[in-house]
Amino acid sequence: MDLTKLAAYEVIEQRKLGDLKSEGALLKHKKSGARVLLISNDDDNKVFNIAFRTPTKNSTGVPHIMEHTVLCGSEKFPAKDPFVELVKGSLNTFLNAMTYPDKTVYPIASCNDKDFQNLMDVYMDAVLHPNIYKHEEIFRQEGWSYQLEDKDGELSYNGVVYNEMKGAFSSPDGVLDRVILNSLFPDTTYANESGGDPDEIPNLTYEEYLDFHRTYYHPSNSYIYLYGDMDMAEKLEWLDREYLCKYDKIEVDSEIHLQKPFDAVRDLSMKYSVSSNEPLEDNTYLSYNKVVGTSLDRELYLAFQILDYALLSAPGAPLKKALMDAGIGKDITGSYDNSIYQPIFSVVAKNANEDQKDEFVRIIESTLKKIVEEGMDPKALEAGINYHEFRYREADFGGYPKGLMYGLQIFDSWLYDETKPFIHVEALDTFAFMKKQVKNGYFEELIQKYLLDNPHGSIVTVLPEQGRTARLDAELHDKLQAYKASLSDAEIEKLVEDTRRLLEYQEEPSSQEELEKIPMLEREDISREIAPVYNEEMTLAGVPVVFHEIETNGIGYLDLMFDLSEVPAEQLPYVGVLQAVLGIIDTEHYDYGELFNEINVNTGGIGTSLELYPDVTKVTEKEFKATFEIKTKALYEKIPFALEMMQEILICSKLDDEKRLKEILSMNKSRMQARFLSSGHSASALRAMSYRSPISRFKDMTSGIEYYQNVSRMEEHFEKEKEELITILQSLVKTLFCRGNMMVSYTASREGLAGLENELEKLNMALFDEQEAKPACVIRCEQKNEGFKTSSKVQFAAKAGNFIDAGESYTGALQILKVIMSYEYLWVNIRVKGGAYGCMSNFNRIGEGYFVSYRDPNLKKTLEVYDGVPEYLENFTVSERDMTKYIIGTISNIDQPMTPAAKGDRSMNLYMNHVSEEMIRTERQQILEATQEDIRALAPVAKAVLAGNQICVIGNEAKIEEEKDVFMEVKDLF
Ligand SMILES: [Zn+2]
Repeated sequence: MDLTKLAAYEVIEQRKLGDLKSEGALLKHKKSGARVLLISNDDDNKVFNIAFRTPTKNSTGVPHIMEHTVLCGSEKFPAKDPFVELVKGSLNTFLNAMTYPDKTVYPIASCNDKDFQNLMDVYMDAVLHPNIYKHEEIFRQEGWSYQLEDKDGELSYNGVVYNEMKGAFSSPDGVLDRVILNSLFPDTTYANESGGDPDEIPNLTYEEYLDFHRTYYHPSNSYIYLYGDMDMAEKLEWLDREYLCKYDKIEVDSEIHLQKPFDAVRDLSMKYSVSSNEPLEDNTYLSYNKVVGTSLDRELYLAFQILDYALLSAPGAPLKKALMDAGIGKDITGSYDNSIYQPIFSVVAKNANEDQKDEFVRIIESTLKKIVEEGMDPKALEAGINYHEFRYREADFGGYPKGLMYGLQIFDSWLYDETKPFIHVEALDTFAFMKKQVKNGYFEELIQKYLLDNPHGSIVTVLPEQGRTARLDAELHDKLQAYKASLSDAEIEKLVEDTRRLLEYQEEPSSQEELEKIPMLEREDISREIAPVYNEEMTLAGVPVVFHEIETNGIGYLDLMFDLSEVPAEQLPYVGVLQAVLGIIDTEHYDYGELFNEINVNTGGIGTSLELYPDVTKVTEKEFKATFEIKTKALYEKIPFALEMMQEILICSKLDDEKRLKEILSMNKSRMQARFLSSGHSASALRAMSYRSPISRFKDMTSGIEYYQNVSRMEEHFEKEKEELITILQSLVKTLFCRGNMMVSYTASREGLAGLENELEKLNMALFDEQEAKPACVIRCEQKNEGFKTSSKVQFAAKAGNFIDAGESYTGALQILKVIMSYEYLWVNIRVKGGAYGCMSNFNRIGEGYFVSYRDPNLKKTLEVYDGVPEYLENFTVSERDMTKYIIGTISNIDQPMTPAAKGDRSMNLYMNHVSEEMIRTERQQILEATQEDIRALAPVAKAVLAGNQICVIGNEAKIEEEKDVFMEVKDLF
């Protein structure tokens, strides 16, 4: 990287980043004062990020509203929604913006050079020259506004961020996280909710909001990041020429201040809402929180991640176990949040009771004291170190670009000390240091100093209140109507007029000229090739194996798959329980804590899952394969060890451990409740499909709402049910984990195959004897159309159906339809106008289709929007440019770069679903050649899906009662 000719920048530091196989540089733009960081390497998936330090003085959510609104049009790109245009029409591998308690970030990523440059340009212009000064409507649409459709109507609030935060504040976890942070830093920006408290958001004025932009969105307050394979000097020259050179350095007071430590731990409590039929008992959240130094300390930063594992997060970890044994809470979780200046270590007991608070604190502190006196379990520390080091080296961030994750982590130090951006992303030395500290009292001293002797902490209790949501809604309603009553006729007329103007603004599409300013690729820029499929069938030791030969850096990804087709339908919920239990219950040779540590000292972990694979060549027969899977990732030489441990889990688990079974059921129940509240869209869409689809019903019975109902029953009536539970689990193990019922999926390089045959031979011998074949399981479905009531402030509304059953067929154009729905029809009607946070649709090769909304203030209105889809499609008219844009957006969803593990998984899925390369090629061709006629031709498909009339909604109890004629059944979810 040659930076010597860059006159506009001062190079502060330039050096090799050995751990990342990269070269790093820290610079400053001389004229504007912008801070710049470069990580140069051969990664094709390039990343750009511009961030601003954005402390806030109140909880009006101004940083969050700003984040939404700068992406709603700018000087050079005046279209109303350039962000959405880019999502639809670029090959980005990441495109988003996020608000944190102290910063706001605007990252993009792409593998395509031209695309990358386009995205950078749009984002730079968005943050520096947004149209928010020209159109107040942008603020009113995304932030908050009064809504009054006619002078006799009811006055209400609306706004995308307003509704989003109402949703975020619906869950007890959301309330708890916020109060913990606020409680520890009363004098700094962390005392406030940067996302916005729905009660405070309406206090924000347009002028204050604009001031926030004037103050903080200046290059002098910016942090610019470039990562990957590109000509860095050229990018820097471009940034200087197009944007930065136009600014002079100014002083921006955005420093994040240190909170003065407390003299004594603070104690506070908050309320959250449960629905009117949910019990108060076992519904309190207790938390114990301590401030741990600052995030500029690289050792502390890592040491507490390891302590979090060893004390709290690992199953069987001592704090978790002590609290569980004392019967405090049904799930013990914890976290070490080091993404803020002063990191927080928290212990949380969910589903506990208020009167257990003192005991909760006493048990935590006495357990910690005992650990300090007796010393920590070195195995647990080693497991914690290896757990984190394995992940650090593997650098597999799921679907997220590596460069993005490094770019975000860098802020953990860079934001607080601009000379220290690299201290956490270069971690191998710190890991080596940690390994030397295992037995010398280092970790015990940290516990003493930062947890036991540290008065800078808080005990936060979050208590349930029945019908709180309804009460607050009624109060807000009264307040708004009283406000309306206080207004003169002229003032009311103005509110009606403003509401109408906002709607007009929203309905007026951007002009073609404005839209065309947004740079776009051509169809020719898209490769016609499909991603390679790596499937090689072989038989090793009599076991069918599908091998995926991929370069994996010495790691083998091994998946043992057991066929579930002979499990009778009534036992399916128990399969779900078995999956939840295996790996975290004692076995013949280990107690479950030891087992977990032993695995993590030597491998990257072992996990279980249930998978479903529809056979796309037998759609009308609705054939599918269901499997119980146990997976590991480990260095090649550790694969034999991993297989031994998998065998231990499958064959030697002590499934008659009543105490542990009860704990796991409670934990499972508590986690599902949290999941339904925070992301009920998956559960409601699945449930709606399950009314007619056996495969979806299977999934609902093993992980969805029906599964939850069963777990909940087993937990509540444990004494009565335990014997049956144990008997069924023990018989399931013998039916499933037997010779002849297993196949293997393995991702590795060819050398990783050596020795596998031998190991599988050993495992095969250890499996149970093959049993007589039983009839295949038959799953029956029944249409129910349910409304599930919760304490949530918003809805997740789903409508589903099957278009192949109705005589339609699958085509690649349906993938384009998903993009058009998400960013056009549903976006405009459900998000922009309806105020929901999100909305999506899906159509797959077996004919299942659904529409679902996410954190939606509406119910019936949303279902009506779905019903308008066929008509929208019949009249679908777009320019050639727009059609190309949708196609690029679709391809960008399909062509996401994959990690080695993901390549193997994708290949295996295609294999199991009987999807041939020919079918993928045809689909891609259908996408690339699609015209507006092809989209119009999808109207009957949408009609068929909607004609299924399968409706399921999870949401606000009052709303569901109010519109209950939509449903066949209305019930409480919890
Ligand atoms: Zn948001």
